[in-house]
This record gives sequence, structure tokens and C-alpha cells, in this order.
Amino acid sequence: MKAAVYYGKHDVRMEDRPVPKAGPNQMVVKINYVGLCGTDVDAYQTGNFLRRGMVPGHENIGTVTEIGEGVTGYSLGDRLLCGPPSFCEALCASCQRGETNICVNALETTRGIQGPDGGYAAYMLLQDVSHAVLVKIPDAFDLKTAVLYDVVCVGIHAIRISRFRFGDNVVVSGGGGPVGLSMVRLLKASGARNIVVLQRGTHRSEILKRYGADLIIDPETTEDIRGAIVDFFGTGELADIVFECAGTKQSLKNCFAYATRLGGQAVMVGQVTEAIDNIVPSDYFVKELDLQFSFVFTAKDVEIYIDMLKDGKIDFREMVTGVIPLADVVEKGLGLVRDERRKHIKILIDPS
Ligand SMILES: [Zn+2]
Ligand SMILES: [Zn+2]
Repeated sequence: MKAAVYYGKHDVRMEDRPVPKAGPNQMVVKINYVGLCGTDVDAYQTGNFLRRGMVPGHENIGTVTEIGEGVTGYSLGDRLLCGPPSFCEALCASCQRGETNICVNALETTRGIQGPDGGYAAYMLLQDVSHAVLVKIPDAFDLKTAVLYDVVCVGIHAIRISRFRFGDNVVVSGGGGPVGLSMVRLLKASGARNIVVLQRGTHRSEILKRYGADLIIDPETTEDIRGAIVDFFGTGELADIVFECAGTKQSLKNCFAYATRLGGQAVMVGQVTEAIDNIVPSDYFVKELDLQFSFVFTAKDVEIYIDMLKDGKIDFREMVTGVIPLADVVEKGLGLVRDERRKHIKILIDPS
């Protein structure tokens, strides 16, 4: 079978690999779609994150073609969402509490990132089936929308663990990315009163408005961000909750400094990897800022996603802006220059 194999910065090669065989507690799926994730793009551009010699791809949807010994509850032909996060055999304290997203053993077992091979291939092996997040997709369910679970469930999880309540005024910082867009749509569906989005540029304004943004502020060109937010809410206060989805230092600073009301909550959904050296905790002490981090999602979040989409009352289809064959993964995906990439929200790979 054809597989795209990661060897480091600017080095992904198409190779012929044997179709995997399912051993005990394993299954093989034929990949229907795999999402091209920002993590994969970053790995291609920087040489970080992914294990060398591996097949990337953690946003997978596949059809079961082989079931190994001891696996129960699955049938050939089942269509499964099979991405991260994996979790351990309930040995760690997080897993015992049901917080499988923060399992201490997850990273090395997470397919397509540090663990076994992912879905940038025609077939994929699912190891340790009893400890993987695998969610069946109902018949007649749009697979392209389904595969967005890896993005949307990040938003579902963040909202579920936050203090968000019906009628809250919220700010979403970095609302134009796939996670931010999902967040805006989910918050609107959950009864947010007003949603202010902080987003650089105007390239995502139309879809943001359709998804529920009430006001979009460009933090680069707006002098008084705080004033603009307070004026818009009309309550004399900043947001009850802010969701940081850009994963940048500047976005995080904006969230802390300009977005949250006294006693409000800031939820960190994006991953800020740079150190921040000029944050003075006492500034937030007197505001009694509640700081919450949100990391990936659990199987329950994925089940909620599937239920939410089942009857078509909400969908995220518009976020799929391109479907490419596996052979084009570098040229039309990982290697796209910045401007080309900005045109896309989510690119899917169809390895069939
Ligand atoms: Zn991803
Ligand atoms: Zn664990």
C-alpha cells in the first residue's frame, strides 16, 4: 500500500509499505479520510513533534477490514473515528478518574504523533483496541463532516469543562482557525449572548459571521480592544469567559489583559509554546481571574459530537475546503506556502 512517511523537516516521502495485519486486540481499517492537521504542517515545516520514520495522521476515519483475536463489539464494515487520544489500561490516576485526555501514558501511544503509524496511508493498524478512542459513525452520516471531530471536539471539551452558562458574553481569540470556528459555532448553539471574536485580517469574517460571531475585532489594527469589547457588550464589563484558540503569545496576552471581566474565566484552548516573561500574576489576582487549560478531548466528547450532528441541525461541512489524494500530500498540503494555506480551513486527504 502507499503511505506517506515522515523523515523530518521538509522530508515526507511516498513509500510502499505492507498492508498491516491485525494481531490480538487489534483491528485494521481502510482509511476513508484523514485530516491534514496544523500539527502535521508544523512538523513538516520545523522537524518537531512527529517521530521520524512514521506515517503521520491522527484525524482518521476508517472502515474496519480486519478484526483481530479477542476484539469484541466491532464488525467488518464499521466506520470508525479513530484518532487520538489513546489512554492506558486504567493504571494511571487520570484514567481512573475518567480523564483519559490527560492520561500520563497517552503521548507514546497516540497514533500518528509519537506512537504507532497514523492514517496517511491506505490502511492503518489499530493497536490496543480496548484502550483507543474509537467511535462508530452511524450509517448515512457524512464522512467529511465526521472527520472534523478532531477539531470540533477540542471545542466541545473546552466548553464542557468551562464555567460557560447560557446567556454569557464571550470572547473567542483566534476565532478564524478550525478550532476557533468550531468554538464560535458551538457557543452560539449553546446560548452565548454575544460573541466577540479577536481575529487578525478579514479572510475569515464571512464564515465567522455565519457561525455566530456578533463582532469581529482585528487586534492588530484596533487601538482600544478593551473599549471595543465593553462598548459592544453594553454591560460596562468585559467577557464572562474568554476562549484562547490561537495558541500565540499575543493572543494569550490579549485574553488576559483585554478580554475577561472581574471574576471571569480564561480558557486556554490553543497551545502557546513560547515562554511569557512579563505577566505579573498580581494583575489577575485582584481580578480573581479563573484560569483553565483544556487539552484535547475524551471519547464522551466525540459521542456528543456524533449525536449533535446526527439529525443535521448543526454541521461544520463548510470547514472542509479541500480534499486531496495522498500523492499530493506535500504539494497541496504540508508544503503549501503561507498565503495558500490561509485560503484553507481544513484539508482532507483521501488515500483511496
Ligand atoms: Zn489534529
Ligand atoms: Zn492513563
